Amino acid sequence: QPVLAVVGRPNVGKSTLVNRILGRREAVVQDTPGVTRDRVAYDAQWAGRRFTVVDTGGWEPSATGLQAAVAAQAELAMNTADAVLVVVDASVGATATDEAVAKVLRRSKRPVLLAANKVDDERLLSDVASLWSLGLGEPYPVSALHGRSSGDLLDAIIKALPEAPREREAVAGPRRVALVGKPNVGKSSLLNKLTGEQRSVVDSVAGTTVDPVDSLVELDGQVWRFVDTAGLRKRVHTASGTEYYASLRTKAAIDSSEVVIVLLDASEPLSEQDLRVLTSVVESGRACVLALNKWDLVDEDRRHQLEKELDRGLVRVTWAERVNISALTGRSVRKLAPALRTALASWDQRVPTGQLNSWLSELIAATPPPVRGGKQPKVLFATQAGIRPPTLVLFTTGFLEAGYRRFIERKFRERFGFEGSPVRINVRVRE
Ligand code: GDP
Repeated sequence: QPVLAVVGRPNVGKSTLVNRILGRREAVVQDTPGVTRDRVAYDAQWAGRRFTVVDTGGWEPSATGLQAAVAAQAELAMNTADAVLVVVDASVGATATDEAVAKVLRRSKRPVLLAANKVDDERLLSDVASLWSLGLGEPYPVSALHGRSSGDLLDAIIKALPEAPREREAVAGPRRVALVGKPNVGKSSLLNKLTGEQRSVVDSVAGTTVDPVDSLVELDGQVWRFVDTAGLRKRVHTASGTEYYASLRTKAAIDSSEVVIVLLDASEPLSEQDLRVLTSVVESGRACVLALNKWDLVDEDRRHQLEKELDRGLVRVTWAERVNISALTGRSVRKLAPALRTALASWDQRVPTGQLNSWLSELIAATPPPVRGGKQPKVLFATQAGIRPPTLVLFTTGFLEAGYRRFIERKFRERFGFEGSPVRINVRVRE
């Protein structure tokens, strides 16, 4: 989602205005001199558009004086955000510090909006016009305290911000499950076990048209759409069951699903083919449940061996829940539905920006990113830019090593869950 940075010298009413914009959704903590605030970024919404508001106060405490500090802040904002909102106190007029900020922002390639704050009564409107001299375009008169005209300002903000990238739409109807795994792992057996005598389920879902290649299956009181199962139902085990055909089918099924059940044969060593299936799932960004099938054939020795294989083979899907099942006997097959539900809930989950940043700033204060080339990269703020899969964007002043990104992901999962879903972490380094 797009980012709006708010800049301005202290006491112009930035925090009050940000609170206005947020509609008190997440209250901004007041600036306290000398204290670094723990929250800097928040979720906002106007006219159906979502965006992130970043209050830049407290980013860069500076010993070189207020003017330099605020100018540096503006510089950072301009290089990080999609649009910048400058707040000026109209009752005071443009000060030397405001001029310094304007000088920086006139170079901005991104849109800049000018808010003339504290226009608490009509007499001040004439002073507002004088702010054209800052060279930042039309000043929007607002009174953060009284809520005056913030609608016009918000309309202008929405116009200036780029559209958020569209998220994968929630497909109406039953949630879509792919059942994948190498040939003979037990896919048809499991589907048969799950469907049992359920042919009537198709009729019982009102208004659903079923793609003939899909199967509707009721599990645990909920109807699921198992995608691309035609071949499985007919138990086609001809020459077309070659590896090439199988891998194409696997990719197609994953693409049309939201959550994938990866079947692994617990009675045999993990194979290259299993790993290729897992790679496809990881790359697809779909939620995932691992089902270790043929558990009826697993004895004590095999179990120890299997643990070692899984430790090595599943490093990229450690977040996926594992269920030990037997499609033959039906053992633990009923545990699949709750696992699917958990995975999808994680896949759909969104952490509010305020919460995310208060957690992140604590984490980073305790364990800062490793120094690279003599420089300490700083993480300025983060937002969860999307769901399905959950995707975080970290705004930083430098490159973050893969190891540190993995550390952040691990801690993020410890704090917020996300079992059964991949979590993507993108880093946007300020230019
Ligand atoms: P698919 O190619 O993945 O669809 O695999 P199938 O469902 O056709 O199963 C291949 C073989 O494994 C068949 O002989 C099944 O009876 C057998 N099989 C499937 N699941 C199990 C299981 O849980 N335990 C055991 N012992 N055999 C199974």
